[in-house]
Amino acid sequence: RAEIGKLKTLVPEVDEMLGGGMETQSITETYGEFGSGKSQFTHQLAVNVQLPEEHGGLEKSAIFIDTEDTFRPERIAQMVKGLDGEILADLLRRDLDMGKEDVEEVELGEDLEDLPEETDEVLDDLVDEFLERVHVAKAFNSNHQILLAEEARDMADELEDSEFPVGLLAIDSLTAHFRAEYVGRGNLANRQQKLNKHMHDILRVASLHNAAAVVTNQVQSNPDSMFGDPTKPVGGNILGHTSTFRIYIRKSKKDKRIIKLVDSPNLPDGESVLRITEEGLKP
Ligand code: ADP
Repeated sequence: RAEIGKLKTLVPEVDEMLGGGMETQSITETYGEFGSGKSQFTHQLAVNVQLPEEHGGLEKSAIFIDTEDTFRPERIAQMVKGLDGEILADLLRRDLDMGKEDVEEVELGEDLEDLPEETDEVLDDLVDEFLERVHVAKAFNSNHQILLAEEARDMADELEDSEFPVGLLAIDSLTAHFRAEYVGRGNLANRQQKLNKHMHDILRVASLHNAAAVVTNQVQSNPDSMFGDPTKPVGGNILGHTSTFRIYIRKSKKDKRIIKLVDSPNLPDGESVLRITEEGLKP
């Protein structure tokens, strides 16, 4: 069994709270209200997973199962261009070593602070490389979503010996189709059974390929409710114990978000802050 890897958000405070980053071989559930930043979080991880380990990644590719049409290639582009200058310079140097002619035209400054004109084109090529390594599949309903997770397994098998094996399986949103299709108490058991099987498939990919799995789950926070604790999803915790790490995201002032680690099996509960900016998740 491979050593557990850590996929960093690259926000030091958050990574520290997570014990160094999101673990491979397990499922992390990010939950929060609509607009809290779950998709942004997932997009950022699809970028970060591709980075070399010394920069917090796993140097692997991502599979992104998109159920609500939230995947935005433009957002990936912004996040790649928004990486730290030092990381960008290293990535371009790597391309240069691989004989990419256009990179040779660019003077790689200390940390790309003074970007020469030609860099734009070179960065666009780099963005394309990142986009090629995010394998996006759209799920039209819950059965299709289940099928795509099964196919993710085949894809991960196929890519295992490639230059960029699968290091992240992201499902955004895990629960939307299931909630919409299995309505009412009478369907709860059935829904739970399907979701359990689905989570099992996801965990299998994560375990077999030493990949991180991230799933999002929209909840309504209701601070005034009789349930008291707004970090506990109203209506119960539908994922139960299958998700090993649970991260609650909530809006704060302006672009700030509070990230809370909830009920972790081996880490203390904690809170940390990040910002969602044009350039991606930042301290
Ligand atoms: P969720 O998936 O939890 O419903 P999202 O991840 O879609 O929420 O987050 C949407 C929020 O992310 C927006 O309200 C905005 O605050 C922020 N956001 C999205 N795109 C950008 C961007 N290009 N620049 C800055 N902030 C952005």
